[in-house]
Amino acid sequence: PPKQRLLVVANRLPVSAVRRGADSWALEMSVGGLVRALLGVNDFEARWIGWAGVNVPDEIGQSSLTKALAEKRCIPVFLDEEIVHQYYNGYCNNILWPLFHYLGLPQEDRLATTRGFQSQFDAYKKANQMFADVVNEHYEEGDVVWCHDYHLMFLPKCLKDYNNEMKVGWFLHTPFPSSEIHRTLPSRSELLRSVLAADLVGFHTYDYARHFVSACTRILGLEGTPEGVEDQGKLTRVAAVFVVSAQCHFPIGIDSDRFIRALELPKVKDHIKEFQDRFAGRKVMLGVDRLDMIKGIPQKILAFEKFLEENPHWRDKVVLLQIAVPTRTDVPEYQKLTCQVHEIVGRINGRFGTLTAVPIHHLDQTLDFQALCALYAVTDVALVTSLRDGMNLVSYEFVACQASKKGVLILSEFAGAAQSLGAGAILVNPWNITEVAASIGYALNMPADEREKRHHHNFMHVTTHTSQEWAETFVSELNDSVVEAQMRT
Ligand code: UDP
Repeated sequence: PPKQRLLVVANRLPVSAVRRGADSWALEMSVGGLVRALLGVNDFEARWIGWAGVNVPDEIGQSSLTKALAEKRCIPVFLDEEIVHQYYNGYCNNILWPLFHYLGLPQEDRLATTRGFQSQFDAYKKANQMFADVVNEHYEEGDVVWCHDYHLMFLPKCLKDYNNEMKVGWFLHTPFPSSEIHRTLPSRSELLRSVLAADLVGFHTYDYARHFVSACTRILGLEGTPEGVEDQGKLTRVAAVFVVSAQCHFPIGIDSDRFIRALELPKVKDHIKEFQDRFAGRKVMLGVDRLDMIKGIPQKILAFEKFLEENPHWRDKVVLLQIAVPTRTDVPEYQKLTCQVHEIVGRINGRFGTLTAVPIHHLDQTLDFQALCALYAVTDVALVTSLRDGMNLVSYEFVACQASKKGVLILSEFAGAAQSLGAGAILVNPWNITEVAASIGYALNMPADEREKRHHHNFMHVTTHTSQEWAETFVSELNDSVVEAQMRT
C-alpha cells in the first residue's frame, strides 16, 4: 500500500538556501535536533513545509526556489523581512523562548517587550496563517499534518478553520513551563485554545504535559478528564496527551544506529586515534552545546574551576573540551554571553595552565559529524549543565558512542533527558557548583563496574527509544485519536 503522507510543518526547512543568480539556488541540508530525528523515519512519505531562511521578494526567485526545493521534498513559506523581524526575532525568540525556559529578561528589555507585545503577537498570528495557507494548498485527503514547536502554536487552529477533517498534531520541542509562568503571557488564552484545536498535542516529558494541562484548567477553566479536556460539555479532542499523561508523553530520541555505525568509519577511527594521542595521560571531559543562555555553560566552567581548585593532583590529568556552537550571534545578549564565557575560560587557563597544556579547550565552532562522533567516543565524562532544556540530544548521542569506553554522563536535572537517562547518569543541579564539582570528582574516580552498569542502563534506553520510534508513535497515536473522536460523535 502507498505510504501515508506526512506533512511536517516547522518554522525552518531542513535546508539552507543561498541565491546564486536570478533563478538559481544552492541548497544545503542543515542539521538540528528535529531534522536529525525525522531523517531516521522511513514509514511515511514525509514532506517539509517551512521557511527557507532567506528573504525572496521577487516572483522569479520564489518560483525558482520552490522548484529547487521540490527535489528535496521541501515546500517553502515565504516570509518578508518585517514579518520575520516581528514574528521570529520578536515573538518567538524574545518572548516565547525565554518564557518557556524560565529566563528572566533585564528590566529595560522587559518594558520594551511589553510595549511591542501586541504588534509582535499580531505578526505571529499572521505568520502562522501564512504557514496554514501553504499547508492547505498542498494538503490531500488522508494526509497527516504534524506541526512543530513554539513557533507554530497558532497553526492547529488556522488549519482546523480551513478544514475540520484535517488530522493535525502539534509537538513542542522546548519545555512547557509551569502554568504560573504561562499565565503572565498577555496572549495566554488564545495560544492555549489554538493548540487545543489539534487532535493530538505532544511533549517530551510528563512534567511538560502536566504543566500544559494545568494551564488549560486554570487559565481557560476547562476540565481535565481522562480522555481530554472538557469544554462546556464538549470534549476537546486534544486527548491523548491528557490521557492522564502517564503513557502519553513522547520523548524524542536519536537515530542511534547512525552514531554506532559511524564509529566504524575509517575517518572517525583516524580522529579517535588522533584524539587519543593528543590527550594521552589525561581524562577527557566534554561539553557540546549551542552557545545559549539555557545551556548553563558559565555554570559548567565555574564548577570545573572549583573542581581543579579543590583537587590539585587532577590539574594536569584532566582536560575539558567545550564545543560552543555559535547561535544568534547578532543578538547582544548572546554576544555578552560569548564574552563572559571567554573571560572565565581565559582566567582558568591562566590560573591552572602550564607551559605545555591548558585545562580547558574552548571552541566557538561547529564540528562535523565525524569529528563529533570521535569526540563522543574518546570522552571519559560528558557534562550537560542546561538550566532548562526541552530534551538535550547531545546526552543521547554521547551514550550511543560509548559502547566500548563506558564513560560517565553528568546531566542537569533541568534537561528533559534527565527523565529518561536519570537512572544511568549522575543528575545535578547546575546552579549548585559545589555539587557539580563533587560529581566531577565522583565521575572521574568511578570504578569500572559502576560505570558499566550505568552505561548499560542508558545505552539500552537510547538504542530502544529512537527518533524513528518517536515519530511512528506520535503519528499512530494521532491517527488513533482521530478515529476515537469520530467514534464518539
Ligand atoms: N551538533 C552538531 N554540530 C556540532 C555540535 C552539535 O551538529 O558541532 C548537533 C548535535 O549532534 C545535536 C544538536 O546539535 O544533535 C544539538 O541538539 P540538542 O538537543 O542537544 O540541543 P539544541 O541545540 O537543540 O538546544
